[in-house]
Amino acid sequence: MSEWVSDLRLGLASIIFHRRRSAYVPDLDGASEEGAGRLCDMSKMERPLMRELFPDLVADLIACLREEGEEHLAVSAWDVRFYEECGCGDDFCQSFYTAEQPDGAYGPGHRCVPLIPPRGDLILDVVDGRIMFVEVLHYPKLPRLVS
Ligand SMILES: [Zn+2]
Repeated sequence: MSEWVSDLRLGLASIIFHRRRSAYVPDLDGASEEGAGRLCDMSKMERPLMRELFPDLVADLIACLREEGEEHLAVSAWDVRFYEECGCGDDFCQSFYTAEQPDGAYGPGHRCVPLIPPRGDLILDVVDGRIMFVEVLHYPKLPRLVS
């Protein structure tokens, strides 16, 4: 619960700020789940955190990003949520989306961030500073969400 509240505080503070009525100041520490839930972007809240699903992968990811001097991405990786599997079906691929896929190509804000983990390959697709896709190749088996 306390972790959930801290996620809420970090990730959704701006949303709360924008939706807040002057007469209503959310009490996050004592907030009931129901009360706070109404302020949340539910589609985002339903997705599991990448770090809870794949703690080892996220540890590798953050270490690599720090090594590359990608401090902003290293920090944001902590709050990235799993969106859906890549779905290509290749044995060596455990890539996954961390945001909805774009209609076509990623826009002009897109860049690739290749990393050098101790095992396998990790490559991020980043759009305007947001991690959209985590390419995970030749990496130790991750726990699966769906069989
Ligand atoms: Zn794939």
